[in-house]
Amino acid sequence: MRRVRGTGGAPGVALGRFRWQAAQTQHRNSAAQSPQQELSDFARAQQQVAQELQGLADACRREGRGEAAALLEVHALLLADEDFVAAVHAGIAAGADAAQAVQAAGEAMAAQLAALEDDYLQARAGDVRDVAGRLLDALAGRTADAVPEEPFILVAEDLLPSACIRLRDAPLLGIALQGGSPLGHTAILARGMGIPAVFGLGEAIGPDCDGQEALLDGGQGELLLDPDDAARAAFRAQQESAGNLAALRGLPDETRDGRRLDILCSIAAPQDCRAVLENDGRGVGLLRSEMFFLTCGTPPEEEQQLRAYGEVVRQMAGRRVVIRLMDMGADKQAALLPLPPEENPALGLRGVRLCLAQPQMLHTQLRAICRASAEGPVALLLPMVTSPEEVRACRDRLQEVQVELRREGFAFDAQMEVGVMIETPAAVLIAPELAQAADFFSIGTNDLAQYILACDRQAPSGRQMDAHHPAVFRAMRMAAEAAHGAGIRVGVCGEMGTDAALLPFLLEIGVDEVTVPPSAVLPLRGALREMDAKRACNP
Ligand code: PEP
Ligand code: MG
Repeated sequence: MRRVRGTGGAPGVALGRFRWQAAQTQHRNSAAQSPQQELSDFARAQQQVAQELQGLADACRREGRGEAAALLEVHALLLADEDFVAAVHAGIAAGADAAQAVQAAGEAMAAQLAALEDDYLQARAGDVRDVAGRLLDALAGRTADAVPEEPFILVAEDLLPSACIRLRDAPLLGIALQGGSPLGHTAILARGMGIPAVFGLGEAIGPDCDGQEALLDGGQGELLLDPDDAARAAFRAQQESAGNLAALRGLPDETRDGRRLDILCSIAAPQDCRAVLENDGRGVGLLRSEMFFLTCGTPPEEEQQLRAYGEVVRQMAGRRVVIRLMDMGADKQAALLPLPPEENPALGLRGVRLCLAQPQMLHTQLRAICRASAEGPVALLLPMVTSPEEVRACRDRLQEVQVELRREGFAFDAQMEVGVMIETPAAVLIAPELAQAADFFSIGTNDLAQYILACDRQAPSGRQMDAHHPAVFRAMRMAAEAAHGAGIRVGVCGEMGTDAALLPFLLEIGVDEVTVPPSAVLPLRGALREMDAKRACNP
């Protein structure tokens, strides 16, 4: 047995076999690389897609699906088409990054084919888009690795949020990463999916671990390779004690002396609703809608979004659902939105700024959210706000959408609340003004700590920021005071909300609700119900 220490990424324990996953690359919105680097990224993506297509074609032939195999072989030819490759190279030479050049070349070629008289050639436009989409996926790091059918623990250098979402339906037991950051969105997604994760394991794990058995403890942030009998027995005991939490289902979220603190859930997709209900969350306090955009090749249409939001609202059956506007940017780069390069994406066009800069996408999303509000209690949440003008601009767009929907005869909740995320220092400093413009506050401690402490939340484990810094606590207190001064509710939706040790502080500053991953609801409820609010707030 070998013990390897890392950092906890997501709590829980898992016992299973390792499967190594090769490195992925992030779709970048950061400073452009050199043209040589872009050309080599493109060449690597071409090679990856060629192998992918060949593998799929071989599988089709083995299964006797010759027609499908032939189509995949046509796609492989398109991938190497001289005109297409020359157009991508020309785009890169003109300053585009590889993804932008592929998208532009693919669209130009598809448009040319679609304009031809010949039906057969017209139909090839779809094939070109398909190939370009595969290349964009490869450039965005969405590896097409075959997902194992047997339960497995994924081992990798790092894992992109979009790749993590794609593993949602896989028999994934746990995640072990050489790098990774506990405050990054991969960790947040893993917690939401209830998948234990350990990050920062460095060179202690690698491709040679493939197939090895391991016991992963996300709470302790450690791995046991080839665990012995005693470790296995401890694992079973831990699983049983987790089962005891079920007794807390159905009980109120309150302290012994009756102080209430509602515990809601953060989710990324309709599939997560099951975990919310199983863990008896009071509702969805944060639907990170951008996760839906990250896995789409083109901006999701209104009906597509409505299906997703509507499903969440229906599954919550009367419990509150807070849908956050797409919060893209920084580590959540979407291939569907190739943006000009930025030196510092975390300080760039992201959150509500990006929403307002993409009026068509904002309009479509607002229409879908409004229409979902006809099916149950829905609130809208604005990410990364820094000024009341941004809130007013969003309210104006919302009003326009409501007028339009009314004219078209669609039902919606005209009283839908509009909340503001408090996750920038500016939002804290002008919280009293923002509270006049908002219906509720939701404190996003992940970004708030990052920006207050000028410390990258994406930094590798070991160089993490101390989110328990007095400046972060003071900022939270200021936001809560401003909210209550204006008579609106305040919640905490960052990862700090999962820390039971902070409950006395949250009660003291008067937080009304916390939003945590589904798996954290019952442990937090248990801790809350053992506390005495009066004593905790005045020790
Ligand atoms: C936060 O910043 O605390 C938050 C909840 O939003 P996200 O983690 O998605 O940036
Ligand atoms: Mg945030």
